[in-house]
Amino acid sequence: MKLYNTLSKAKEDFVPIEEGKVKMYVCGPTVYNYIHIGNARPMIVFDTVRRYFEYKGYEVNFVSNFTDVDDKIIKKAIEEGVTAEEISKRYIKECKHDMDGMNVKPATKHPLATEEIGGMVEMIQTLIGKGYAYEKNGTVYFRTRRFKDYGKLSHKNLDDLQSGGRSLLVTGEDEKEDPLDFVLWKPKKEGEPAWESPWGEGRPGWHIECSEMSKKYLGEQIDIHAGGEDLVFPHHENEIAQSEAANGREFAKYWMHNAFLNIDNRKMSKSLGNFFTVREISEKYDLQVLRFFMLSAHYRSPLNFSADLMDAARTGLERIRNAADNLKFLRENAKLKEMTEAEKEKLDRAGEYVRGFEKAMDDDFNTADAIASIFELVKYSNTTADEESSAEYLESLLGLIVKLSDVLGIQSEKEEEILADDIEALIEERQEARKARDFARADKIRDELLAKGIILEDTREGVKWKKA
Ligand code: AMP
Ligand code: ZN
Repeated sequence: MKLYNTLSKAKEDFVPIEEGKVKMYVCGPTVYNYIHIGNARPMIVFDTVRRYFEYKGYEVNFVSNFTDVDDKIIKKAIEEGVTAEEISKRYIKECKHDMDGMNVKPATKHPLATEEIGGMVEMIQTLIGKGYAYEKNGTVYFRTRRFKDYGKLSHKNLDDLQSGGRSLLVTGEDEKEDPLDFVLWKPKKEGEPAWESPWGEGRPGWHIECSEMSKKYLGEQIDIHAGGEDLVFPHHENEIAQSEAANGREFAKYWMHNAFLNIDNRKMSKSLGNFFTVREISEKYDLQVLRFFMLSAHYRSPLNFSADLMDAARTGLERIRNAADNLKFLRENAKLKEMTEAEKEKLDRAGEYVRGFEKAMDDDFNTADAIASIFELVKYSNTTADEESSAEYLESLLGLIVKLSDVLGIQSEKEEEILADDIEALIEERQEARKARDFARADKIRDELLAKGIILEDTREGVKWKKA
């Protein structure tokens, strides 16, 4: 099994630190809003990586944090006149709801930065003790040049960074020994959440959070550390410096980074304002379509979001679901129970597509080719399964489709999910029926929606709906 390691800029064989186990850390979102579909890309990609390791028989310890203390959270809390904790709790809950909709498995552990401050303080103390960090007026900085391997992940050279970082000296951080030094601990500002520390009240820098949480839940050395490509520098570079300086050993063996999700060929980001939240998308599409769309490209290729590609993903997903449905229908009506000799041979040939799927996934998780193999299997199933087939053969084909789809987190069984647009259309129809005094029809629509878990409320401002 090969995966691309940002550290060596090459595909490498995966060799676990501990036989049969994978220790994996994925940087999670900062929770100050609903997640957007760009944030969803690493979630879906690395959930798929995890699922494939599990399919291969590995036990995966998968840790992904929530950054729940940050300037943006504090800003949002001030805007709403509530505590930062209220904001982060709210959006963690919403994020988990979206993850569930995208069939992203919960991590083995989702640590919260605010619950791990003690460990971060200890790690900073260790760094100071070893001469890798120093305090100035309540701020603790990492002494970047002291860490000899600095730049090894982002393949940056310290002197280039030095000339790029010079402007920092005039932007208020002039107490640093060197413009390359970065913050480990910052002093409290009025009205901000703060914790006690040997350097006075304050809060940790973002990078130290992940170094500490990874160490606490996975140990000093892990197999894979992952996130979006924007995190390579400075976030992951700084995590390496902190962890390796403090622990005295290599931090992560493999560093994986997904490329960006773009919109109109520009990076989708909160700061540019050109993003869709997962929640918005869920009102128009089944989130399984979003997942299928994400996996239709290789995770290291940029992906442009478009209605056309989403439609193509919907059609692809339908193709798989229809084949699975067809197999189920045939199986229920099959006259023959056990597989014939000829069918056993046919099933052996279907194994070809499973091998194709594994070959694609073994090659740095090439989900685009893996999906192509599922399509071939679907085609094979459509051409070899019919009314004459045995229940056992049909069941085996169905099992293969379900098993491979499941590795990608794709639910090959049809879901009766009702979309917001359809709900609105039915409400409209109900209003028309009431106007025409066709109350039987109006009630029928209400009951139909209720059966799908949608509750209607007639209010003075019109009809409102909510999910039960
Ligand atoms: P943030 O909340 O900004 O820290 O981002 C959480 C995760 O989403 C990180 O791994 C980012 O690299 C990733 N991410 C943010 N925007 C995008 C995007 N447009 N495409 C892909 N990944 C993204
Ligand atoms: Zn991180």
